[in-house]
Amino acid sequence: QAHVRLEHVTKRFPGNGRRGAPLTALDDVSLEIDRGEVFGVIGYSGAGKSTLVRMINGLETPTRGRVHVGPHELTALAERARRGVRRDIGMVFQQFNLFRSRTVAGNVAYPLKVAGVARPERDRRVARLLDFVGLLDRAHDHPEQLSGGQKQRVGIARALATEPSLLLADEATSALDPTTTGEVLALLRRVNRELGVTIVIITHELEVIRSIADRVAVLDGGRLVESGSVYEVFAHP
Ligand code: ADP
Ligand code: ADP
Repeated sequence: QAHVRLEHVTKRFPGNGRRGAPLTALDDVSLEIDRGEVFGVIGYSGAGKSTLVRMINGLETPTRGRVHVGPHELTALAERARRGVRRDIGMVFQQFNLFRSRTVAGNVAYPLKVAGVARPERDRRVARLLDFVGLLDRAHDHPEQLSGGQKQRVGIARALATEPSLLLADEATSALDPTTTGEVLALLRRVNRELGVTIVIITHELEVIRSIADRVAVLDGGRLVESGSVYEVFAHP
């Protein structure tokens, strides 16, 4: 069974196109993401990648079409129920989105506090997550004391805190240099293989897709122009 399924999803934004015409950010996009795979979405700026992410996490509703996540049809749910589905989705961002005022441990603990997880259990989980991403010794530092790659590892630990089955990484390596990008991708691969988390990785960088994705969809001007295994979609020497 597919983990994420989009059926003929179109998203229009009113009055944001040429001469105030509606802008079509996604145009009749259908795709299936299997449970346990690393699925890449690649496209230039403005292709509709972030809009696609917001369709999957239910932060926006499509103009037409249906979105399924696990057994839920998101598009048929009220906002409150969508929020429940969203709790099973971890988000990783380009600019990390860490709280400056909180420690590394405090950042990772945050979603657990929101979920009402009590102190001893929270401490155990935070320590396990920091150990997993190799930052247990930095628990009491603040984000500004960390390198970009370390910040993103904190971002990944925080995204995993509520033990989601799906991780959405939106340009998660775009602010990082190539070496650090490699380290973060290696961590994401471990998240996929060792924790069994389905990963959707959104990027404009071909190398990111090549190094981590099982399958890939190519977006261009809101249309899904190609999809398949990385081997099928990209030319090889
Ligand atoms: P990408 O992530 O691939 O750069 P986006 O999904 O952010 O692309 O944007 C696709 C198109 O939709 C762009 O033309 C963008 O300007 C437009 N768009 C995205 N979000 C909104 C919004 N909230 N309101 C109006 N237009 C939007
Ligand atoms: P802040 O004040 O930034 O929220 P704290 O350092 O007080 O951060 O810790 C916040 C949370 O992080 C606490 O809920 C605690 O459970 C957890 N925590 C703090 N230090 C550790 C640690 N060394 N190992 C595991 N969890 C920790």
